[in-house]
Amino acid sequence: MHELSIAQSLLDIVVEEATRNRLGSVNKVRLRIGELAAVVPESLTFCFDLVSRDTVASGAAIEIESVAVTARCDRCEVSFEVKDRVFECPRCGEPVLEMLSGRELYVMSIEGETGEEDG
Ligand SMILES: [Zn+2]
Repeated sequence: MHELSIAQSLLDIVVEEATRNRLGSVNKVRLRIGELAAVVPESLTFCFDLVSRDTVASGAAIEIESVAVTARCDRCEVSFEVKDRVFECPRCGEPVLEMLSGRELYVMSIEGETGEEDG
């Protein structure tokens, strides 16, 4: 399952960040995900719930901001937004293979509380 492995690596990042910032619990994780990363938000949230059980990120809300796919035509030196996965330069009609964005998956921020009490 695609989302499960993503959730797992996401959890690793979150736990590492939480440790670095001495967070006792993580309330919210904000992500940026490219439209081509082929991630189903509901599925990722579900998987994250599963893998984060009994960790500092247990019960954290996942907020996903999706990033449009953009590509660049070498010939015209134009960047454009790719719609409906048509990788074609809007100016010259050449197929474009160079992608600028759309596959990324970034953790933008993590919100939580320092766990001095409660553990
Ligand atoms: Zn072009």
